[in-house]
Amino acid sequence: MSELNPLANEYLSRLKDSVERTSALGRVSYWLEKNTTLAGKKFSFDGHEFQRDIVDATHPNVVVIKPSQVGLSECTSRLMLGFVAISPDTVGIYTLPTVHEALRFSKSRIDPVIRGSKYLSSIIVGGSDSSSFKQLGTSQIFMAGTFGKALISIPTDILLCDEVDFSNPEVLVTAESRLSHSRIFNEELEIRGIRRKFSTPTLPQMGVSALFDKSDQRRRLVKCKHCAHWFWPNFLHHVVVPGYDGDMAEITYLEVQDLADRGLIEQAQLLCEGCHKPITKSNLRPDYREWVAEFPHIKHSQGYSVTPFDLPDYHTPTSILRKKLEFKEEEGHFRNFTLGLPFADASNSVLAGIVKANTELAPSYPDSSGAYGLVMGLDVGKTSWLVVGRPVGDCLHVVWAEQIKIGINREDELYETILLRMKQFSVIKFVCDAMPYTDTMLRIQSRFSPGQVLLCTYTLTNRRTAISQVRESDFTLEANRTKSIDVLVKRLNTNKVKFARFPDSSLMESHLQGMKRVDRVTDKGEVVSEWLKTSPDHYFHALNYLNMASKLVESSWATEWSPGVKITQAIVGERAEKESPADPLRLFSK
Ligand SMILES: [Zn+2]
Repeated sequence: MSELNPLANEYLSRLKDSVERTSALGRVSYWLEKNTTLAGKKFSFDGHEFQRDIVDATHPNVVVIKPSQVGLSECTSRLMLGFVAISPDTVGIYTLPTVHEALRFSKSRIDPVIRGSKYLSSIIVGGSDSSSFKQLGTSQIFMAGTFGKALISIPTDILLCDEVDFSNPEVLVTAESRLSHSRIFNEELEIRGIRRKFSTPTLPQMGVSALFDKSDQRRRLVKCKHCAHWFWPNFLHHVVVPGYDGDMAEITYLEVQDLADRGLIEQAQLLCEGCHKPITKSNLRPDYREWVAEFPHIKHSQGYSVTPFDLPDYHTPTSILRKKLEFKEEEGHFRNFTLGLPFADASNSVLAGIVKANTELAPSYPDSSGAYGLVMGLDVGKTSWLVVGRPVGDCLHVVWAEQIKIGINREDELYETILLRMKQFSVIKFVCDAMPYTDTMLRIQSRFSPGQVLLCTYTLTNRRTAISQVRESDFTLEANRTKSIDVLVKRLNTNKVKFARFPDSSLMESHLQGMKRVDRVTDKGEVVSEWLKTSPDHYFHALNYLNMASKLVESSWATEWSPGVKITQAIVGERAEKESPADPLRLFSK
């Protein structure tokens, strides 16, 4: 070493340091069993063996989906303490959704572990032992909430985020940026710092589920004692109970209540996926279990999906069914908290396959004649998303959908196509996005009757406002974003929106899965419901504009509707000639 120049020496020492810190992670479970206690006895992973791999993971990026009662809070507090105790000069931040929860966790989960450990008690620095901050030797732990007080700005080595799905996502991003100066550096993956994210899941593709989807997706498989078949035991697929022949994913709490009244739920069993013989408690023990990654080629993140069957001493098919009775109709809560599975239903999502299930109309192509009295919605952007429909009884019929792409400096393509479609479909009401091409939309508006074209802006307020309101002064439509989307989703999920088959049918279906309704707690502590984008959602918004246009026509059908379209020429002279040729088709034909 002495022959190397100081720079190389410095580099080598940093590398050695980083390797030591990473390998320290791999020994945390052993260290915890040696140095900590639980209720006066040596702490042990017996009965909680599934936690060992999670605690000892050396990967810089680990995400864990968990049901609510599998002892992981006990495990995460020890993981944090063990890690900073083994590895000197490190800084850990432990986050929970709110400051209050973080401080309570510190008192109820962290303090008892320190008190019960001779070693931790000996290294805790006097005076530093508050609920929000602990100094253990040369290392530090900060407890933080994601709502409430601002996160302290300090470089961090390990960030443990608990209950990610209930935390403020922006604050979690900020917290992660604190890892960018950590000395713990994974050369192979080029990732700095250690991330551990835990949560009960909520919606598919959201929060911890989205993180897990992008990971290598580890599940703790079981090997059947009878036939040696390996599978992932899932309550929804592998549990049977006498007296019920249906799908366990469909069973209602009333049916479970009936089984309980008849004394049958005690006979519920987990069956092997291969030979259908019972998988008993002893078959769920560590000898027959292994965490297996579904996507081992994914290297940047390790995901663990914990199920109640990972804790067979506490959870059995019967006890899980009893939980269902507690949750009653709250299927989402049962799946999230008891099974550790994400769940979407009609209250927070558009049901999967809704477009396909309601495709029963003949399409109206733009060049087909005879279309009249239609309504139109448009989500505006570099690519704009147009939908055309008409109200029929209490239904909305969607007869056409298309994308309008505009090239660089070719905003007129949008303008021209919209004018043409307005004419072709004899559109009586058109609601479009006011942004980002406001000028183009205003130009379109000026060519039609007052109120025929409405530029829509969303408001995000939670206050008791109307779903949507037309401002007569400038013919803008102010729509409450959450409420208006609620109305559309309800209409979709109750099969009141019918579709024609058009080229973009399946794309529309996928865009309708692009937003999920979530409840969030604001900094002020109030709960707000919001539709959050989870993947492309353009047709979702286009349909929302269409639905609002349709509602306006439906409610004022008798007074406002008049056949045909009056075109107001707004621009005169040479420019008008250029922009409004006698035969618009010539311009727009592709
Ligand atoms: Zn079997």
